[in-house]
Amino acid sequence: MTIDPDVIHFLEDENDAVSAKELVWRLMVIDDEPDVHRATTFALSGVKILGRPLEFLHAYSASEAIELLTRERDIAVVLLDVVMESEDAGLALVKTIRQRLKLTELRIILRTGQPGYAPEIETIHDFDINDYKTKSELTRTKLYATVTAALRAYEQIRKLDLLAFYDRLSELPNRNKFIDLCEERLEMKRTQGDVIGILDLDDFSEINDALGHQQGDRLLQAVADRLKFNLGPDVILARIGSDTFGLMGPARVVDPVHILGLFRDAIVVKDDSMVVTATMGLTNLLGGSILAHDALKDANIALKRAKKTRRGGFVMFSAEMGSDIRERVRFLQNLRLAVESERLFIVYQPQVNLSSGRLVGMEALIRWRNEDGTFVPPDRFIPLAEASGMIVAIGDWVLRMSCHELVRLQALGYPDLRMSVNVSQVQFRHPEFLEKLNAALLDTGIRPNSLELEITESVAMEDADFMLETLHLVRELGISIAIDDFGTGYSSLSQLRQLPIDRLKIDRAFVSELSQEVSGGHIASMVIELGRNLKLTVIAEGIEEERQAETLLKLGCHEGQGYLYSRPLTTVQLREWLQARPAGQ
Ligand code: C2E
Ligand code: MG
Ligand code: MG
Repeated sequence: MTIDPDVIHFLEDENDAVSAKELVWRLMVIDDEPDVHRATTFALSGVKILGRPLEFLHAYSASEAIELLTRERDIAVVLLDVVMESEDAGLALVKTIRQRLKLTELRIILRTGQPGYAPEIETIHDFDINDYKTKSELTRTKLYATVTAALRAYEQIRKLDLLAFYDRLSELPNRNKFIDLCEERLEMKRTQGDVIGILDLDDFSEINDALGHQQGDRLLQAVADRLKFNLGPDVILARIGSDTFGLMGPARVVDPVHILGLFRDAIVVKDDSMVVTATMGLTNLLGGSILAHDALKDANIALKRAKKTRRGGFVMFSAEMGSDIRERVRFLQNLRLAVESERLFIVYQPQVNLSSGRLVGMEALIRWRNEDGTFVPPDRFIPLAEASGMIVAIGDWVLRMSCHELVRLQALGYPDLRMSVNVSQVQFRHPEFLEKLNAALLDTGIRPNSLELEITESVAMEDADFMLETLHLVRELGISIAIDDFGTGYSSLSQLRQLPIDRLKIDRAFVSELSQEVSGGHIASMVIELGRNLKLTVIAEGIEEERQAETLLKLGCHEGQGYLYSRPLTTVQLREWLQARPAGQ
């Protein structure tokens, strides 16, 4: 194992801090025989172990020991008698020490007068008992050696705990320790009126980039110091993330207005004077049987909300926020289940040539059917699948399934059909998108020029350079590209001219507009005109009436899709629909 020199430095610092605070090792003798107490203190009187003298605490029964252990801090070692009030009072006390009092650093040396009362090996192991000795074995030198070993182990454990539970930079507890400390405080049930808060520095990563990491670290230290200094000992303060602090304490102290006010004065570190702001999320739902972990989650939900709507301010958690999020989480779980239990399927909506009426292709549209037969509309679950990243896997599945379907249809005697597949932005930007696309082509054996990808207008216009490059690569594969929902975005002609695309798809809102008498030109007619100028094919979606189709045809629109021709169909329905059509259509 290599050790980071900083860690050593940190540990040394800590040793200094510890030795400055507690210059002694605290040992506790627990035994019902006063003689044993006397003999022990006598044997160890005047000695220094690992550079420090010993201080003794005495308990004459298990119950007295519990009382003392609850009150006193930093006890390093207990020398514990097995037989006291009862035959196994000592062993029961070990359990209490580890499980109820949660004193895990404390080292335990068991002593018994009668060798027959030795605990089982498992007990020694399970309760982390350091040593087991019969009293006769504990001569002065042996006792010294045993206690030294225990103290060394104690020191080691403390160092490891320090590494595991404290943040080096700020010397504050870390996230895990924060949760433990909050949990302890909650268990004491004196937390009525307490709040848990999370404080997040605004734009810290920019500050870090601009000033360098060292200066960033100094800033964090200064913020930690300012919080420590102003909040006092009633508050549990921790660094729970790179630029986030956790706080728990009485509402009058963990008061967001006061705490955020602490940031009003500039923070001076080395040569820079900086004004930083912070945002807070808090929850005061500590009355019930809430766990620290959950309270922290709630505070985090409030923080996220604050970051969005009230940067530099704070938001208090409310139950309604929680149910929002829980609703989303449940929804996502259901979606995952739907994927696993194959309750997602694809329907295909025919697309026709407006002048000849011939079938030219179809659009693949995803469906989610609940167990009770109801449907969850894609407009509801696609955004969630996008936000969670699940769309990448789902989209890949849609692509493969619809390619397979097209290959089957072509084999059935429809060789010229085209398959249009919707691709969402998250999918398109995924680093493996092109690879997956290629793999789908290869695995399904679809001819690339019979596949079309639909991307929405807003996606096409965002991050133009990246889009251009990807679109070119897609086109190089022989796949065509349609811009979906065209007319709803704000593309400029010059932007559009640059894009390597094949087709514009007029949004159905502009098609339904066609049945009303609108003064001036329709958006649909402008889109068609634009398509003509750019030499692109234009397809209209959502055609429900003959009149709309006629108008579109007159305006020069090439293709159409909508309930007038067919609703989206399952594979079985699609085959029936095809068979029912006159030959050549
Ligand atoms: P979209 O790509 O614009 O799909 C057209 C929508 O219009 C479909 O809704 C279709 O059922 C509906 N539609 C077709 N003809 C008519 C008509 O005559 N009248 C009316 N009122 N509606 C018609 P759907 O299936 O609910 O899909 C909604 C949106 O969900 C799609 O809009 C698309 O953005 C998204 N979507 C669907 N499947 C997928 C998919 O596999 N992947 C991705 N990324 N998005 C998908
Ligand atoms: Mg579409
Ligand atoms: Mg559309």
